[in-house]
Amino acid sequence: MRFDVLTIFPEMFPGPLAHGVIGKALDRGLAELHSHDVREYADPPHWQVDDEPFGGGAGMVFKPEPLVRAIEAVEASVETSGPVIFLSPQGERLTHQLAKELAVQPQLTMVCGRYEGVDQRVRDHAVDREVSIGDYVLTGGEIPAMVLIETVLRLVPTVLGDPTSAQLDSFVEGALDHPHYTRPAQFRDWRVPEVLRSGDHGRIAEWRREQALRITVDRRPDLLPDVELSASETRFVERCLAQKSDREDA
Ligand code: SAM
Repeated sequence: MRFDVLTIFPEMFPGPLAHGVIGKALDRGLAELHSHDVREYADPPHWQVDDEPFGGGAGMVFKPEPLVRAIEAVEASVETSGPVIFLSPQGERLTHQLAKELAVQPQLTMVCGRYEGVDQRVRDHAVDREVSIGDYVLTGGEIPAMVLIETVLRLVPTVLGDPTSAQLDSFVEGALDHPHYTRPAQFRDWRVPEVLRSGDHGRIAEWRREQALRITVDRRPDLLPDVELSASETRFVERCLAQKSDREDA
C-alpha cells in the first residue's frame, strides 16, 4: 500500500511513523510513505500557498492551484491511484470501519490543510472524501494524516507481527477490548485475576468476553447495538445494564 501526503511541512514525515511496528512495515517495504511539498506546485517567484479570504475576515486560506496541481502530479505518477482524502474537522469521523475500508486501497493521497482551511473549490472538485479524527480543531492536517496512516496500516495483513493480535482490539468486533495482565502475578498487593492463571482456556475466554462486555456497557453503551451477542451474552449484558442503572440511581 502506498501513502502520498501533500503538505507544506514534508519534513514532518515519517516522524512518529518511523517507529514501532509501523516503522518496521515501512522499512520492510510492506508500505510506502511519500510526503510532497505543496509549495513546489505554487507559482514563482514567491511560491505562495495562501492568500486572503474573499469577503474579508480573519486568517488566510490555502490557495487552490498548488493543491490541485500536487494532487494531479501524484495521480499521474502512481501506478494505481486510490481516493484523494482531505483531512478536515468537517469530514466523516475516522472509525475502525472506515480504516478497514481504506486498508484495501492500493494508494491514498492525503491533503493536509492549514490556515483557516483550503479553498472550497479543491474540496468540491479535487477531493473524493473528507476524514476527521475527532470533534476538535488542530492547526494542520499533518497529525490527522499520521493518525489515519497508522490506523489504516495496522489493518493491512502482515504489518502486525501476529495478525490475530488485532482481532480482539476495541471496535473490531464492536465491543471494547478486555483487560490485559502480565508477570508478576502479584505487584504490591495488586493481584492478577486467578482465572487467568488457571490454564483453563474455556474459562479464560469466557472471563475475557464478559470483561469486554462489562467495560463496553460501562464506558461505551452506544457501541452495544453493533455487538453480536449469544443468548447468554445478551442476558449478561442486561444484568450489567441493570447494575449500572442501580449504581447511577444510588
Ligand atoms: N476553519 C476550519 C474549520 O473550522 O473547519 C479549521 C481549519 S484548521 C485550523 C486547519 C487544517 O487542519 C484543516 O484544514 C484540516 O486539514 C486540519 N484539521 C484540523 N482539525 C482536524 C481534525 N479534527 N481532523 C482532521 N483534520 C483536521
